[in-house]
Amino acid sequence: MLSTNLKELIQLFFPYSNFRPYQLELIGIAYNIMKNGRIGLISAPCGIGKSVSVLVAYMLTRRMEKSSLMALTRTKNQIDIYSRELRAIWEKSGEDIVLAIFKSRRDMCAFVKERPELGKIRYKDFLAFCRHLRREKACPYYTEIGSAWRPSYKAYRLCVELRRSGPIDVDSFYERCVAEGLCPYEMMKIMAYKADVIVGNYNYLIVEPIREILLKKIGVGIENIHCVIDEAHNLPKYSVDVSSDEMSEISIKRAVKESIKYQCNLENELRNLKFMLDEVTKDIPSDEPKVLSKGEVIALFESCFDAKIETIIRDLQEWGEVIRALKIEEGVRPVSYLGRIGDFLSLISLSDEKSHVYYVVKENDIARIGVKCLDPSSNVSGILNAPKSLIMMSGTLWNFEYYTSILGLDHTRVETYSIPSIYSEKNRLILADLSVTTKFEERSKREFKKIAERLSRYVKCIDGRVAIYFPSYELMKNIVDYMGKLERETIVEDRATRVKDVIKTFLDEENCVLMAVAGGKLSEGIDLTYVGKTLLDGVIIVGLPYPKKDEIYEKQLKYFEEKFGENKAFEYSSIVPCINTLLQAAGRLLRKPDDQGVIIVMDRRIMGRIFRRLPYDWKRDLRGHYKADELIKEIEFFQRFVKHSPSTVRKYTL
Ligand code: SF4
Repeated sequence: MLSTNLKELIQLFFPYSNFRPYQLELIGIAYNIMKNGRIGLISAPCGIGKSVSVLVAYMLTRRMEKSSLMALTRTKNQIDIYSRELRAIWEKSGEDIVLAIFKSRRDMCAFVKERPELGKIRYKDFLAFCRHLRREKACPYYTEIGSAWRPSYKAYRLCVELRRSGPIDVDSFYERCVAEGLCPYEMMKIMAYKADVIVGNYNYLIVEPIREILLKKIGVGIENIHCVIDEAHNLPKYSVDVSSDEMSEISIKRAVKESIKYQCNLENELRNLKFMLDEVTKDIPSDEPKVLSKGEVIALFESCFDAKIETIIRDLQEWGEVIRALKIEEGVRPVSYLGRIGDFLSLISLSDEKSHVYYVVKENDIARIGVKCLDPSSNVSGILNAPKSLIMMSGTLWNFEYYTSILGLDHTRVETYSIPSIYSEKNRLILADLSVTTKFEERSKREFKKIAERLSRYVKCIDGRVAIYFPSYELMKNIVDYMGKLERETIVEDRATRVKDVIKTFLDEENCVLMAVAGGKLSEGIDLTYVGKTLLDGVIIVGLPYPKKDEIYEKQLKYFEEKFGENKAFEYSSIVPCINTLLQAAGRLLRKPDDQGVIIVMDRRIMGRIFRRLPYDWKRDLRGHYKADELIKEIEFFQRFVKHSPSTVRKYTL
């Protein structure tokens, strides 16, 4: 219950005339977390207005103390939301607020618009490109800046002007800087000094060197920063990805060519490496990783190069620098495959064998070698406990104990909050088809055919756009083969499918189907929306998206068994990731309080141990049927009597 005094204070900053359901409560929760220096885990549904709520909470906190807010998000869309909301607060309150938005150096590079190919190269290659230009004083946007500590008059003047004119979005900031001939990234570093609000991606907190540079620029210690992590359910995976990597034989082949072209004299060693990789992978089934020890991986490289690992890494990385510099002079993409292999090897060499797994795998006849981090806390636990306060929030942060344990949060500071779902039976019909499953032991042509037939009927029955998510590409193919023609425009996800193409098709077609993989790029972290409103009318999840049970999974399970005990190990490595993936895929459907649609889960196991761990509103609303006719009857009723008009299926024009 908020005091009248606090409500009045909130009104000073809250930029809209009405609060959304539970929004006032959320502001109060966020304010108390900041004020009391706690670590708050907040599960709050999409569409409640989380970004503006934490910004208002920070403005209230700022009245009592000098501190900064660091809001970390994953997508450009979310970054834009923060800058828009902060500007609205600035306009309403009239308070001085300095915003610094940090996208990656590449995203903010003035050259990327002129040379779009730079946007496609590996990030490390881009950094080397930028470093080279700065060192050689060959980037005019950089030389115009002066230095971050002694900016030129031009940079200083623009900085003062931008600070005075209030928070602006990153695109406008970029345009202003480029128009003045100044590097937007370097300008943002200058803007960051004593900034009130810093918005960026997770790397600015998680990756130590990046974080240290940022903190130096802000001039504020982490202990004086309130930190907000948006879409925080992504954090465990993000943290793991920071110290995981894979390299394919294609990179090795390209490195051979590079070595010949630039006379590095390493082609024989690289050919040996390619041969050895073929040897280790020749007898393993496709897409079935084989685990190696760190010693085996290092021995493989040392035997191919006939040198110690440190020497190999040093040589490859040095050649990488040289080749990138030469390519810049040649005016071609500044990438180096030798450098790429050197960086990969460096990651392996520095990794802790206890918390990493090393493997080889072959898929579509292409061999890869990789390293995967098994412990999400290894990169983050120290830093997550360091800020003055921390808020982790998401629409699917339902299992608080999991996030607290797996990220190594300080239990004594953790507080948890579940904001009730704003979506009810009026928004979505949640159904389960209990007559099918994709359980490994029950996979058969007969089962695939049965799934395909029922799936086709559900798709036909749903008016509008439908997204179907499968547990894997392989299963998608097996089932789609039996589906026949859907008589609707259909997009089948492959590695080249881009989100913007999917949205374009959705905007062009009122009735269409997207087939994609749960946990893939089209099921999480994206908005299939138009002006904030969902473009979807139905989401069908075929099977339960459990992680694949392979040798890497076994290693993960064992690691968690040792760390958390047997009971928790299975839950953390299997059940929680499965439910997260399921809810994320289903979450594409509803993005705003008045969105509506149908969710169908096609797997009888949803009623087993998964059911007990589902969020409350799912347990309340989920209805299972064995007969397809029963499901269809429910869908038809929902579409006829519950779904409002005009529906989301109308055609949009851009
Ligand atoms: S200094 Fe700035 S503009 Fe120049 S290459 Fe680097 S990021 Fe791009």
